[in-house]
Amino acid sequence: TKSHAGKRIIFYDEQNIAAAMRARHIEGIMSTALLKEEFVAYFQPQYDIRGGKPVLCGAEALVRWNSPVLGLVRPDEFIPIFEKNGFVDRVDRYMLERARIRLRQWMDAGLRCVPISVNLSRQNLFSADLIGRIEKIVDTYSIPHSFIKLELTESIVAESTVQLVETANKLRERGFRVAMDDFGTGYSALSILKDVPFDTIKLDRAFFGESIDSERGRTTLTGIIQLLDALGFETVAEGIESENEAEQLKEWGCHVIQGYVYGRPIPADEFTKMHLEPAQT
Ligand code: C2E
Ligand code: CA
Ligand code: CA
Ligand code: CA
Repeated sequence: TKSHAGKRIIFYDEQNIAAAMRARHIEGIMSTALLKEEFVAYFQPQYDIRGGKPVLCGAEALVRWNSPVLGLVRPDEFIPIFEKNGFVDRVDRYMLERARIRLRQWMDAGLRCVPISVNLSRQNLFSADLIGRIEKIVDTYSIPHSFIKLELTESIVAESTVQLVETANKLRERGFRVAMDDFGTGYSALSILKDVPFDTIKLDRAFFGESIDSERGRTTLTGIIQLLDALGFETVAEGIESENEAEQLKEWGCHVIQGYVYGRPIPADEFTKMHLEPAQT
């Protein structure tokens, strides 16, 4: 009925207005928050499942915002806002700094270091001196470039393949590693795989779930994993929560798992205690 529809529109507007006000609020305090170090790097482990027992092979740095005014804000809420207003650039650089500081600590403590993955938003891709800026951050602490992996999402890939290939090539020439994030969630054709110079392809969580339960879903998954392997990519399955799923993926030839089954994102100190071992002497 008319009145029903009317009510729904009002409700929708109110939600929109509330979201817009919150976004305005976030934009008003984001710069100060960064200076006050309210943004925190959490680390989630990545485990190589190819051998007998899973072995730590990397970590992804994921941002959290611990705001005294807003509480603990999840990246899903603020990253899209920062992507629109350009602030994401500064957050990504901050996260790269956190990663480099952590790597230096691990090295100095004689721990067995693993590469840290840092997310790069699409803006970064178009900034003139991306590589120079990354090198400047990493080199001040003499971190070997191979310990830094940059994650670019598939949606950028589809939009600007040429730019992406160029950037990925340059990064790899300088010894950095490059991963394609969220593979399978965008609309890029499989054919881009032959063009992209990536070390790693991350299969999104959305890929698993229901797929694993149907014959056709399983066939699709195993086929893709085999294709990626044959093309020489390292494959990471993201968002794996159960031992069962992990076991399946291992059987299908997936290389690495990043998911709650092996560990949630946690603060860096906790990560160090829980996942890193002293280097073998
Ligand atoms: P993403 O890059 O795809 O990161 C993986 C997300 O999956 C993380 O969410 C992680 O906590 C979550 N996840 C991992 N394993 C599991 C699992 O087993 N089950 C479930 N349910 N979830 C799992 P998070 O930390 O909330 O980050 C969300 C997104 O925000 C990220 O997705 C990324 O797109 C963005 N983001 C996070 N940190 C940064 C950053 O420093 N810079 C940029 N540009 N974006 C970031
Ligand atoms: Ca990522
Ligand atoms: Ca992802
Ligand atoms: Ca994502």
